[in-house]
Amino acid sequence: MCIQTNYRPTKAVIDLQAIASNISSLRKHLQPDVQIIAVVKANAYGHGDIEVAKAAIRAGATMLAVATPDEAVHMRTNFPDIDILILGATPLNFIPYASKENITLTVFSADWINHANAYSPLPQSVKVHIKIDSGMGRIGVTTKEELQALYEAIAATSQFILDGIFTHFATADEEDTLYFDNQVYLFKELLGALPTKPRLVHVANTATALVKDTSLQYDAVRFGISMYGLTPSSYVGEILPFPIQPAFSLQTELVHVKKLEAGQSVGYGALFTANEDVYIGTIPIGYADGMIRKLSGQEVLVGGERAKIIGRICMDQSMILLPKAYNVGEPVVLIGKQGQQEITMDDWANKLETINYEVPCVITARVPRVYK
Ligand SMILES: *Cc1c(COP(=O)(O)O)cnc(C)c1O
Repeated sequence: MCIQTNYRPTKAVIDLQAIASNISSLRKHLQPDVQIIAVVKANAYGHGDIEVAKAAIRAGATMLAVATPDEAVHMRTNFPDIDILILGATPLNFIPYASKENITLTVFSADWINHANAYSPLPQSVKVHIKIDSGMGRIGVTTKEELQALYEAIAATSQFILDGIFTHFATADEEDTLYFDNQVYLFKELLGALPTKPRLVHVANTATALVKDTSLQYDAVRFGISMYGLTPSSYVGEILPFPIQPAFSLQTELVHVKKLEAGQSVGYGALFTANEDVYIGTIPIGYADGMIRKLSGQEVLVGGERAKIIGRICMDQSMILLPKAYNVGEPVVLIGKQGQQEITMDDWANKLETINYEVPCVITARVPRVYK
């Protein structure tokens, strides 16, 4: 007997066509030879990394970027041939795997390169990209001296091949360009100090790729948030060079409907009390799914109309105030479109006082990602 899973109707539906379309639109916007690095870290921003990476590669991405060694292993297991770049710091003990499985590492310290000698000989040289910290203040070399020392350490060993150099911007999604321009200036200063230019120079995240000067596309862009159809900021949203399509929608169904009489209450703390006779629907999603309690009061869509989440959100269930008596099994959309209405990732982000990036990342693994 085949074991069925996902009995519960709560699911994240991921539109892979939207992902492909966002990449195709970017392709047309980029200069012809610029490569697309699909950023699929953190389970593809919570969208499901394997399926997203497949769609991205099919749509023209030539490299995958992840944050951690374990994410790289997961990608390599599923994609034997594509170039994979780890954007974060990698511990030395990952070097043998990186060598054997051709994982490209981010490096930013000559000491790290020198300590890697402990792992020689390696089956093959490990490709590395130098990270320049031009103002993000996270990882990277900040001075010409550090860069020179790192470059020489790489050149002095056959264990490593310099394949790329990059930086990351702190304010590319903002209207004020002062800090951004300064980062560009510092990056160019350091790039100019390099004796030879590696194969891939890349500085552009989504915001830079979409709204900044085309010269900053260099050899590749690192396409993250707008691959998923979300905007890096409301400012970038206003000046997008092409329309993008959101890929993530969160859906469930009513599992119970009841009439509440005036004076009766709902949920922990009995925080919601009906002041007239109302219909209440129960949906099987709660804070253990990532719909944290701060989302109480957020609207959902049912029957093409907006309905509010009322009372406290429970661990596994929540209650909504229905516009009328619906049947059990009625579809409920928490994020996405239904009829003429739409609840966006940004609506949730606003309610949660955060950014859209964070929302799909914190929808937990209990919510199955299904693909269309
Ligand atoms: C996450 C990340 C990106 C992608 O950023 P978006 O704003 O989602 O395009 C690019 N580069 C680095 C170094 C990152 O960590």
